[in-house]
Amino acid sequence: MQYHATTTLHELFGDLVILRNLTPFDTRLPGLADAWREMGLDSARTPRKHEPEYARASVWFVRQARALDLSGTPVRELLFIGDTAMADGNAFRSLARAGGWPGWCFIGSEKLSQPAEFVRQADNVTLSNRWAGLGEWLASAKAAGARMDAGTAVVIDMDKTAVAARGRNAPVMDAARIEGVERTVASSLGDAYNRDLFLTAYNTLNDPVFHPFTADNQDYLAYICLVLGAGLVELDALVADVQAGRMSSFRQFIDWSDGQLGSAGDRNPVFPKKPGFSEPPAGLQAIHRDVYTLVLAGDPTPFKAFRRNEYLCTAARFGSLPVDAPVAQMLAEQVCITQEVREAALWLKARGCLLLTMSDKPDEATIPTPQLAAQGYLPIHRLSTAAVGESIAAELASL
Ligand SMILES: [Mg+2]
Repeated sequence: MQYHATTTLHELFGDLVILRNLTPFDTRLPGLADAWREMGLDSARTPRKHEPEYARASVWFVRQARALDLSGTPVRELLFIGDTAMADGNAFRSLARAGGWPGWCFIGSEKLSQPAEFVRQADNVTLSNRWAGLGEWLASAKAAGARMDAGTAVVIDMDKTAVAARGRNAPVMDAARIEGVERTVASSLGDAYNRDLFLTAYNTLNDPVFHPFTADNQDYLAYICLVLGAGLVELDALVADVQAGRMSSFRQFIDWSDGQLGSAGDRNPVFPKKPGFSEPPAGLQAIHRDVYTLVLAGDPTPFKAFRRNEYLCTAARFGSLPVDAPVAQMLAEQVCITQEVREAALWLKARGCLLLTMSDKPDEATIPTPQLAAQGYLPIHRLSTAAVGESIAAELASL
């Protein structure tokens, strides 16, 4: 495992970067809001990764992106690289099906304590516990008939795949998100902020047993931690109500919270008010109004202040260490580009394949605000950082 270069995701993908809202950075491609009819969708609503509409939109982007530089070349096959067997494996399956393409999918999750192995699943999905398995995977796809040429679309997941490789560097990305939540909560609560209380609440409610309540939505979780941190309700009381089914959804929680913080007063007294609780901090009421308005409007990422802090905390971890820092320190403290993914991508690009990357992150966590951009802040895919990993160049050269 070593440092190879200081580079950006832009080196691999240019601006062919598609975020959760399905609007590419490359302004030559229209986004969902303008092109949903052409994509064959029923509305401009942003579908989530597991929905068939997401695959339909993605197929459209792949074809349009290929047509930008090679208008007479149809896409005939798909290669997909990701890090989660369920989410990415199924995204690959639905994308291949929607495009009518033969395809091959690599799912990497490094476990160096185990012997290297491939697990082959249905539909040409290969799980590998080494990112360096990409070399052998490409060889086997080639042997199985993959052409890997200008008719090949290569879709690479961004988070924990192209950067912050799962099993190697992923905790850095989680740490950036948690710090983003914490900064948001701390700055809105001011003196009332209690770090231990916040971390206990976050770690408790981030557990999958609470997914029915939090919808596994980090914006919702951040908001709940904010309200707990402000002392509107105690964690134990909330946990008891969730477990007893009295509090069953985030929507119920934020409606209750609006009753406490908004003009309606104590109209939905599910919880007793915490003893000693008086007036909530002014910053909390302002944030609540912003989040509640967006929740009512159906925005799945309603906590914009948190996501903007997540962007800042993530960007601060790109290229934060000198290039001669020990590799173990780089992987522990800095978001690194995955060298094996980088080499595979550059090799495929040299053969004429179309490369694009997709991220499930919202814009606010990935792009600076106009004010920050004016100060020189860059979108995540333009930030330089270290590419770290094991070279697979020798394997690729023999293909
Ligand atoms: Mg991922």
